[in-house]
Amino acid sequence: MIRLSDNVLMVNDMAGLVSRLRRRIPGFASVGVLTDRNVEETVIEQTGLLQKISSSAHMSVVKPGEASKSLTVVEQLSQEWLEAGMDRNSLIINIGGGVVSDLGGFAASIFKRGIRFINIPTTLLSMIDASVGGKTGVNLGGAKNQIGTFSRADEVIIWTGFLKWLPSRELKSGFAECLKHAFLQGGEALRLVNHGLPADPATLASLVEASVKFKDSVVNADLYEIGQRKILNFGHTVGHAFESASLLANAEPWLHGEAVAAGMLVALRLSVRVAGLSPDFAAKWEEFILNNFSIPKTCGMTSMSLMQFLRYDKKNVGNSLRFVLLKEPGMPLFDQEIAAESVREEVELVLSLLS
Ligand code: NAD
Repeated sequence: MIRLSDNVLMVNDMAGLVSRLRRRIPGFASVGVLTDRNVEETVIEQTGLLQKISSSAHMSVVKPGEASKSLTVVEQLSQEWLEAGMDRNSLIINIGGGVVSDLGGFAASIFKRGIRFINIPTTLLSMIDASVGGKTGVNLGGAKNQIGTFSRADEVIIWTGFLKWLPSRELKSGFAECLKHAFLQGGEALRLVNHGLPADPATLASLVEASVKFKDSVVNADLYEIGQRKILNFGHTVGHAFESASLLANAEPWLHGEAVAAGMLVALRLSVRVAGLSPDFAAKWEEFILNNFSIPKTCGMTSMSLMQFLRYDKKNVGNSLRFVLLKEPGMPLFDQEIAAESVREEVELVLSLLS
């Protein structure tokens, strides 16, 4: 077992995960486990995880996907927990991807004014991003993460062995956030992602370890995102626009990481345009992103339609949009104001690369 930060542990195998949970559970009056149906049917059933950790835990299973991140589901869960007799001395264990940790973390943070929870991430994205950092939340009226809390998990226990069940499209989506962390760190971190998503489990585990340590260091310095934590939004401003537009387009919705990968294409180009990033660096990584992420077709998206989504971004000022840009690898700049027309031009160019 390796400690990656004060509340994040990485275990080598299933036995390590079970033993850690068995040490934690006895301190609590009761335990609730939250997961989604896919994770229950693959990961939990195949490993017999639940029987190994507690035969008396109350199990809640939600539908997979963003729709479960809603206040309605929070109410249903709270009702279930009340009926199961859970109280302030209960523990919630969230086993799943970012949907489960965002939903379960949020529900736990408000149930009985807040009870403790442990995250056991099962997707690459939740291991390196969603389950660490203390942001929880649900969506409201189609807009993402509008209601939530800053509440750190008591513990996050990472076992990368879960990734063997994860579909490759989901794995690549998580890799986009690893790449984002590498751009923000530069140096050795970029060398670690240089060959693409590692096929070898040990190299993948090293990548997860490095990525979590980086995210944790940023979050620890600025939990409430007053300043430096904003750098973690690199690629996300336009990324969220791609994600929202894909829900309206006549095709399958894009995954979060796919949208972030496309958003980073725009952010790299804007970084060259206004922050002095080397054009050679941007061109090299643009090619890398196009070759490594299988970003879906843009199906009818236009620069104008994407700009509509950007107009509602909370970070805007007047006719300018605020971005995280890279001056150099490892040297991000946040709150960079850019004229909307410059953004539209780069979005147009990126759309032509993706179509
Ligand atoms: P997800 O939770 O929807 O999981 C993706 C899919 O994989 C689901 O269908 C799930 O059932 C399935 N799955 C999970 N683990 C599996 C496994 N090991 N084997 C097989 N199938 C498995 O998606 P995600 O990408 O993990 O998370 C996305 C969510 O995370 C979004 O809602 C996003 O807003 C949120 N998020 C939150 C933060 C944060 O800081 N709180 C950061 C980034 C993203």
